[in-house]
Amino acid sequence: MDTMYADAGTAVHEAIAEYYSMISPSPHGGVIEGTFSSILDRYWKAASLEKLVKLKSRREKCEENFIKFEKKRLNTWRQYKPTVVEEMIRARIHGINYVTIPDAYWETDSTVVNWKTGGISYLTEKEFVQGHIERMVLRSNGRRVNEYIFVALLTGLELRLPMLDDKYVEDRIETLIQYERTNKFPKHRGDACRYCAHSLRCQLEDRGWHLWS
Ligand code: SF4
Repeated sequence: MDTMYADAGTAVHEAIAEYYSMISPSPHGGVIEGTFSSILDRYWKAASLEKLVKLKSRREKCEENFIKFEKKRLNTWRQYKPTVVEEMIRARIHGINYVTIPDAYWETDSTVVNWKTGGISYLTEKEFVQGHIERMVLRSNGRRVNEYIFVALLTGLELRLPMLDDKYVEDRIETLIQYERTNKFPKHRGDACRYCAHSLRCQLEDRGWHLWS
């Protein structure tokens, strides 16, 4: 299985987390750019991604859009440095145990950012569920969340999570529990299929070819 896109996404996420751990609470625009570019360069080389020409523009776009987003919010948000970066947070809500790791949360701006390195251009049920769970878990840990933004680093798009009822997520979790109980898992085709180890088998089965017992 080709994992280069997943490796590229991991390199970007790790570079962002390290960037936030190092950057000062009120940097200049030039410092943002220089610091992030050199960190990303190190992660890209460590994952041997610089040898893959087809990932070159992916890196350039993620780098450019992250720096653009950071420079823009530098003068508009009250707090530059996030309060929480990739920290595991737990909560028990309505009898269900949740564990989540938000990409970045700013207490003073009551905002969560979720970095997306794939080709996302609109929000699907997957993002609704992920975002709503993170919002619920943060709130039940005493954190205010007014904004939840998915930032698509390939395009620079900023997609805001709408307000949803907790019941929306609980209904979907109930469906997952039913899949587990009945051992019946319907296929849901989506972006994640390209990373799935069963992709070939799955496509052949859709055409009625059952080559595996
Ligand atoms: S390719 Fe994998 S993830 Fe996609 S529908 Fe098939 S089994 Fe599910």
